[in-house]
Amino acid sequence: MQKVVLATGNPGKLAEMQTLLSPLGMTVIPQKQFFTEEAVENGLTFIENALIKARFASEKTGLPAIADDSGLEVDALGGMPGIYSARYSEGDQGLPASDERNNRKLLAELAHFERQNRQACYYCAMVYLRHPKDPTPVIGIGKWCGTVLNEPRGTGGFGYDPIIWMPDLKASVAELTKTIKNQHSHRAQAIQQLVTQLKQ
Ligand code: IMP
Repeated sequence: MQKVVLATGNPGKLAEMQTLLSPLGMTVIPQKQFFTEEAVENGLTFIENALIKARFASEKTGLPAIADDSGLEVDALGGMPGIYSARYSEGDQGLPASDERNNRKLLAELAHFERQNRQACYYCAMVYLRHPKDPTPVIGIGKWCGTVLNEPRGTGGFGYDPIIWMPDLKASVAELTKTIKNQHSHRAQAIQQLVTQLKQ
């Protein structure tokens, strides 16, 4: 089995990747089994940040690496919060960012926008590097679009899920079951693309 380091501490992502990659003869190992330092994510795009994380993990371990980076881009805000999604509300009223404060801030920013101008897309870049200097990384991209609601709905998921409405599914992402979210999400699409290319 080829060992691959996964640049995430998220157990859900690890399990999902392991299931998809074991038929390809790959064993996924979380990076925390090797080191605890965090890469400096100073890229300006999801792809750059995913590559930075994968390169860092591969340098630290000498193994091929997989990393992802994701977030929400809102058309009316020029793509914000984008790569800043996790820390969107950081520093507001001297407080650290939290999912709830991020959501409140986004709802406030869009308060005067009509429904047709509240389009937003989740985006995920998932990359595979054979080694730190790999000049041809394998890249999977997922995009999942909906609209920003006027107030939160539902209790599932995380992050922006309670305020994102998916018209095709007639539900907010926080109202979807885990199974349904995993069939449609930006992350699922990116993983599938990556796996398809790795198989080739
Ligand atoms: P990460 O790159 O997966 O750590 O995600 C960065 C941030 O993007 C998260 O902290 C969330 O704010 C947002 N995000 C990414 N994926 C999702 C999702 O599936 N639902 C809700 N928020 C998400």
